[in-house]
Amino acid sequence: MSNLQWKQIHPNIFFVYQDGVGVVHAPLLGKFFSVPAEAMGIVWDYLDSGKPETHYFHQHLVSEGFFEEATMPRIAKDGPFNSREVTISVTSACNLRCIYCYACAGINFCDLPWELIEKSIQQLYVYANERNDTDVELSFHGTGETLVRWQVMVKAVNYAMELLPEDWTISFSLVTNGTLIDDKKAKFLKEHNFSVVLSMDGIEEIQNVLRPKADGTGSFNDVLTGMKALVENEVSFAVRTTVTGLNQDTMLEFLELCASNGCKEISAAPFSATGRGEEGVDDVDPDIFIKNYLSAKKRATELGMTFITPSDCLDNVSLRYCNADGESMAVMPEGIISCCTRVTKKSDPLVDVFVIGQVTEDGVEIDQDQVEKLKGLNLLNYPECQDCFVKYTCSGGCHHTRFLNGGHQPASYCKIMRAVVWNTLKNASFKA
Ligand code: SF4
Ligand code: SF4
Repeated sequence: MSNLQWKQIHPNIFFVYQDGVGVVHAPLLGKFFSVPAEAMGIVWDYLDSGKPETHYFHQHLVSEGFFEEATMPRIAKDGPFNSREVTISVTSACNLRCIYCYACAGINFCDLPWELIEKSIQQLYVYANERNDTDVELSFHGTGETLVRWQVMVKAVNYAMELLPEDWTISFSLVTNGTLIDDKKAKFLKEHNFSVVLSMDGIEEIQNVLRPKADGTGSFNDVLTGMKALVENEVSFAVRTTVTGLNQDTMLEFLELCASNGCKEISAAPFSATGRGEEGVDDVDPDIFIKNYLSAKKRATELGMTFITPSDCLDNVSLRYCNADGESMAVMPEGIISCCTRVTKKSDPLVDVFVIGQVTEDGVEIDQDQVEKLKGLNLLNYPECQDCFVKYTCSGGCHHTRFLNGGHQPASYCKIMRAVVWNTLKNASFKA
């Protein structure tokens, strides 16, 4: 297989090619078409002759609407801080000791006091009123494992429901290691229509090495029990798997395992070193990731499942990778408010970048100057991304990873994103 290459025809039109075939793609318009081997010469003639408007190929692009004005996706909003979603990290305690944990969870136990949880939930409604909005979202996410403090989460859900005005809607979500979910908990999650992300990294021997319990024994049987409880109670969930050098070869087996237990969706993201992961977890090899990811994705389609890595979606164009550009409110166990769910404590190396305030017994305090500094975290400010053909689907990647890598994404990340998006583009356009 030869190198994947591309040319930018126009700011929103790319010609991407490999192994003698190509695709013309206008990502912001959602338009693309295939260029089979016998037509490649026409495109080269157009490009080599300086893209004249009189050229047959240019006229074809015009007639197909490729030069229509595209709506540019938004960047962070102007004005005072406001978040549609509040994430609460009730504890840094965790029953697992995952070897790459970004939060080094389970070392220093700290619980978010109930009074601060109340203030945070009240603020969710304050922000909604300021927006004239009647939809709110409340999420529960590490630092540690939320279900270690199950009763606190239940109390927070009930409190949020008590405050919910008539005719408003609230959505709940939970990121969990899954090992503490039983039938009773799954019923509660179903009753409140939770959307669950279940972190799990592989088949038994992989899961037990990457995600051991605090006592050193494996967590595989427990997480499988949790998954089955979610399936039996019809809770909406997706598995999130972090791919390292240790599990990059077993994606297909993991997919089959999840399929045989009723899971319908897996999101697989390449590992990025932070927290405990800086201490020597084998990094992913991009070529192995790409090969095994594409095999698993193909097999998932046959099984009626979804197997996807973030950004491998042609429909989801954005200039913003996530809401960490000053539009996210994650309340951490120490009471700090972080825009990035990976920055969890005052001693974090990126605390000065992502922490925008704190919750106290008097209420929520936001440092608007900190918020303003984050608003520039978008694709428009990443020079190396400007000519990249996946820029509107990749959106420049995770800001946290970028900061830890000196302002750039690791080359292996870009290689993976381009290869998987090219595969999706090629399949879609040659099928179309
Ligand atoms: S910056 Fe990265 S780690 Fe932080 S919230 Fe966004 S995607 Fe997650
Ligand atoms: S981060 Fe890499 S893959 Fe993503 S748009 Fe920028 S250059 Fe392209």
